[in-house]
Amino acid sequence: MEKKSPILYKKENECCGCTACATICPKQAIKFVYNSEGFLYPSIDFDKCIGCLKCEEICAFKKDIATPIAKNQNTEIFAARSKSEDVVISSSSGGMFTVLSDFFLDRGNSVAACKYVYESDKVSLTLISDKTERNEARGSKYIQAELEDAFSEVIAFLREYPEKKILVVGTGCQIAGLDLVLKSKKMRERAVLVDLICHGAASSNLWKQYIQKVEGEQENEIDYITFKNKRYGWEKPSTFVKISGREIPIKPYSDWFYMGWSLRESCYQCPYTRIDRNSDLTIGDYWGIQKVMPDFYDRMGVSLVITHTDAGRKLFESVKNNIDYRISNRKDCLQPRLTFPQSRPADRDIFWKDMLQKGMDYCIEKYVEQYDISNKEKVKRFIKNVIKNSRIFLSRTR
Ligand SMILES: Cc1cc2nc3c(=O)[nH]c(=O)nc-3n(C[C@H](O)[C@H](O)[C@H](O)COP(=O)(O)OP(=O)(O)OC[C@H]3O[C@@H](n4cnc5c(N)ncnc54)[C@H](O)[C@@H]3O)c2cc1C
Ligand code: SF4
Ligand code: SF4
Ligand code: SF4
Repeated sequence: MEKKSPILYKKENECCGCTACATICPKQAIKFVYNSEGFLYPSIDFDKCIGCLKCEEICAFKKDIATPIAKNQNTEIFAARSKSEDVVISSSSGGMFTVLSDFFLDRGNSVAACKYVYESDKVSLTLISDKTERNEARGSKYIQAELEDAFSEVIAFLREYPEKKILVVGTGCQIAGLDLVLKSKKMRERAVLVDLICHGAASSNLWKQYIQKVEGEQENEIDYITFKNKRYGWEKPSTFVKISGREIPIKPYSDWFYMGWSLRESCYQCPYTRIDRNSDLTIGDYWGIQKVMPDFYDRMGVSLVITHTDAGRKLFESVKNNIDYRISNRKDCLQPRLTFPQSRPADRDIFWKDMLQKGMDYCIEKYVEQYDISNKEKVKRFIKNVIKNSRIFLSRTR
């Protein structure tokens, strides 16, 4: 009988890089290679492949694009923040990641979350068993994590410690991939899966190239990074690295992220830019809180929490003593990334052509200075309009 050949993606926007296919492959026939933009994509070694098609079947991203996740009538929505001001200040939103992970670590369970690895300048999904390491995973990194064997490490942990549970936090696509992998291994009930509201993931190699240029100019390596420092408040995050104790802004890189030029192709058709998810619980920023709950506004940040399953509701219930919270609803919590994906910039192809052919210095010049003021204003106005229009739309359809 002729051996079947799996097709993992035809176009680059069909693969989010979650690594579920490689994790499930019984022959270790799938490895990940960088494309020209520096995003990791699966590549099959057809000499090892036996044609079982398990890799195709496990692909949540393509399934969720084809059949959008159904509306969940049991969803519960909250505005929440840690009772600890220190935690809120050290976190990107209201500190829910710390609150939820404390609950797991205090009971001897484990956490898997994305840390910045200074030695290799990449973001990694890492198994964490103490609070010092957990604190290193705090904060949003606007770089796509390189998952490598992270899903297999979660499985190995659950096998090695049958009495323990794990909390895994990641983007919607990572968590949707892990959800199917754990179900296929009959381990899903031993994990609580938390996903983030997500604008998109920027190329990890673009970041490495950018930061190596900064390090070269400063003649030293970075020892600290933040994309969301709150010294001017949660809504005006400062973005910088520290080298030899000095702050160096990384604005060009973060502008490319916010403007959408540097995002993975899959992000422009992301099926997880909505309220309903495959996770147990979703966390993000509660943008617009000052309009819908002015008395709960905190200039240092408020988290949006959405529970989807009994496990998610139970976890939120268990941490209520450590947070301040208010009940919210589907209409009030809306923001662009719960409504539709970031749109693909009309000049994205030109950005990458320029980056590859003319180089980073040219792009820093062309895609920051010239676009900066006018387009940032346009983005702000666009976000305001989207929130306004989503609310009008929902009030008409209720
Ligand atoms: C790339 C990205 C885009 C985002 N876009 C939005 C958005 O458009 N709207 C919105 O409301 N919220 C967005 N968020 C989520 C938000 O910024 C906070 O991360 C979230 O609310 C958790 O904050 P916290 O205060 O609970 O804790 P924090 O301590 O800030 O927790 C950060 C959590 O994010 C994880 N994380 C950080 N970087 C990455 C990464 N690159 N990949 C995977 N996981 C990562 C960490 O492991 C940790 O679990 C985004 C996050 C990321 C990483
Ligand atoms: S989306 Fe995930 S499972 Fe699907 S092909 Fe890409 S890496 Fe593999
Ligand atoms: S078809 Fe089976 S053996 Fe081949 S790459 Fe996919 S999972 Fe691996
Ligand atoms: S926007 Fe969607 S596809 Fe892109 S990283 Fe976020 S969850 Fe994944």
